[in-house]
Amino acid sequence: MRGHDAAFTKLLARRGLIGLTWPEPLGGSDAGNVERLVVTEELLRVGAPVAAHWIADRQIGPAILRYGSPELQQEFLPRIAAGDVTFCLGMSESESGSDLAAVRTKAVRDEDTFRITGRKIWTSHAHRSTHAYVLARTGGGERKHEGLSEFVVDLSSPGVEIRPIPDLAGEHHFNETIFDDVVVPERHLIGEAGNGWRQVTEQLAFERGGIERVLSSYPLLARILDGGAASVDENDPGPDLAELGRLVARLSTLRAMAHAVAVAMDTGEAPTHRAALLKHLGTTFEGEVVEHARHALGRSPDPAAAGFEGLLASGLVTGPGATLRGGTTEVLLTIIGRQELSAKPPRDDAAGAEDLRGLMDAALGSLERPEVGRPDAPAKMSAAWDMAVELGWTGVGVDESAGGSGGSIRDLSVVAAALARHGRSAPVVTTAVAGGVLAAAGQDFDGSVPVAVAVGTGVRLETRGETVVLNGRLPRVPWAQLAQVALVRAAGPGGAVLVRVPLDAPGVSVTAGANLAGEPRDTLELVDVSVPAASIVGGRQETEGLRGLVAVLHCVGIVGALEAATASAREHVLTREQFGKPLASFQAVAHHIARMAADVAAAKVAVDEALAEVEAQRPGWKAVAGSIMASRAATTVAKTAHQTVGAMGITQEHELHISTLRLWAWRDEIAGERSLAERLGGAATAAGEAGTWAWVVQETDELGATVASPWEEEQ
Ligand SMILES: Cc1cc2nc3c(=O)[nH]c(=O)nc-3n(C[C@H](O)[C@H](O)[C@H](O)COP(=O)(O)OP(=O)(O)OC[C@H]3O[C@@H](n4cnc5c(N)ncnc54)[C@H](O)[C@@H]3O)c2cc1C
Repeated sequence: MRGHDAAFTKLLARRGLIGLTWPEPLGGSDAGNVERLVVTEELLRVGAPVAAHWIADRQIGPAILRYGSPELQQEFLPRIAAGDVTFCLGMSESESGSDLAAVRTKAVRDEDTFRITGRKIWTSHAHRSTHAYVLARTGGGERKHEGLSEFVVDLSSPGVEIRPIPDLAGEHHFNETIFDDVVVPERHLIGEAGNGWRQVTEQLAFERGGIERVLSSYPLLARILDGGAASVDENDPGPDLAELGRLVARLSTLRAMAHAVAVAMDTGEAPTHRAALLKHLGTTFEGEVVEHARHALGRSPDPAAAGFEGLLASGLVTGPGATLRGGTTEVLLTIIGRQELSAKPPRDDAAGAEDLRGLMDAALGSLERPEVGRPDAPAKMSAAWDMAVELGWTGVGVDESAGGSGGSIRDLSVVAAALARHGRSAPVVTTAVAGGVLAAAGQDFDGSVPVAVAVGTGVRLETRGETVVLNGRLPRVPWAQLAQVALVRAAGPGGAVLVRVPLDAPGVSVTAGANLAGEPRDTLELVDVSVPAASIVGGRQETEGLRGLVAVLHCVGIVGALEAATASAREHVLTREQFGKPLASFQAVAHHIARMAADVAAAKVAVDEALAEVEAQRPGWKAVAGSIMASRAATTVAKTAHQTVGAMGITQEHELHISTLRLWAWRDEIAGERSLAERLGGAATAAGEAGTWAWVVQETDELGATVASPWEEEQ
């Protein structure tokens, strides 16, 4: 990102890779923002020197395209796309940093020109650029946001002076750029005079929503994944695989978020909210990559060295800039918080899912609230179960011809999320997924009979003629005490299989237990339990598939509980007053809400990718990444929600505990977050950078060759 190489920029231009999204007659390629994402991420991935064209390609070209006159477009866009014109950004001033609208630089109309006078600061690469974008004041107005205008200024004009400001490493990219009565032709005004604030805030969506907010420290991660920069000390244990796995899960999620921003831009949106979320989450990630790199290979930063040590030195000294440039983290959290606390907070539900969500919310909202102070964790079936049976939710995703209610796994995920959002516990999801397995095996399914799914390891199977005999013990099986049947994973001579076991069969015993939220988590013991061989309803593939499916739907439930926790916190800060005003009006409190929203958004995206895998009947590494992200958000959101709601939130009288007790319980119930993270870290290092990257950008769903499926367990 800091490498400024005009010759490299020209080379890219000759290949048509600058101004990709602009129309062909203006030097572009008529491509979309998704294509531009692919080009930019490939450049950043290898650490290409992109600074010369970056600002013009990313934001000034699009701003001119959106608001500039046809003459301005004709004059500049083809020359930017050819690499002949390069831009620096003249927004900040010494008195105007985060408060961008406070700019003082003046542009005074003089016949068919403007005369610009003022001082811009932190103008990166101004000394190497041909032109500057300048935000200046052309008029008064009661509010400081009024009377701003945007200009293109030729830096070779008389009256421009550029003063270098060395950064903390002694490098020169910052400048103060001084404009002393610089004459700018009227045709170099971008858009309308006085409309600058509206225009510049849209431009900021381009500045904030790109993958460069995720990848600026990626070359370090790439070298760790390649193991090329192996530890100097052979006794060094190497990277912490669980930490590495978590970073890879985050990378995959952030890339999906950047993709969503690009798609939104292609539909003509200026996705300011999503861009702010991405910049906040992405720049935090970049910093943590550098921290991981400090310890990963036992190597020290060395500014004079090439390779890993040099990159580490660069990552450390440029790190603080990532959470400042383009809008500081605090400013972004303020933007996010304001939107989240508005009357209509933004929500990204998949198309079609919204209707079903609305129906479920209406139905579940009509039930009486769970008894105050007690999670809705019954010693008998809850009202939610009765409602689910009556409305056919226990058969969602199961073919109607097999006794189900039809619909897809995606529909079942809406059911899982809604139950969690409303703090309802019942074996609805386990019954429905078991129904899918039974239906596929041609067996009867009755949605009014609760089914437990016991897919942990610990049960062995032997075949004796026409019967199979099961022995083993499975702790913490959800809903076994209330279920009539269980689908049990058992290890036989030919590998793992799924067996349908009636829970009243001789030799079956269930010892009741509970998780932190009071939901049944029981020990299932099988001693010489004999069932007909026809009770085997699935082989290895179905077993792995079911493990993945259950884990992903569990994560969908976590997302529902995350939404409930954030909604409780939001409601609290909007209604409770301290110091004479609602808590929401305090910035520190609004930032809590924003941080929660960001973590929930990331978990949602990751779980959505996981769902796509289970829909394709191939729960794999995205499902693992989704589980890691959901578990991570469960921890951060529950903590922040309690901090936000204060003492009331840690009582049984406030509803917050209904979701946070579940979050604390559920985050540890998915195969174990640490073990999944270690697996993902191990698979990523086995796949190397190229293999991991191909998986991140979904060119392949394979990741390393060490494990056939991440959901396969050794017995
Ligand atoms: C590497 C780098 C490159 C840059 N390149 C350019 C460039 O090319 N062109 C350009 O115009 N600018 C550039 N900038 C400037 C950048 O946009 C500003 O640094 C940024 O807007 C913050 O302004 P500031 O540094 O004056 O900090 P300040 O606004 O003074 O903020 C200092 C601290 O106070 C916090 N703060 C400020 N106001 C609030 C508030 N209302 N609520 C809560 N916290 C607040 C901030 O978050 C920050 O933590 C660059 C900056 C960096 C670091």
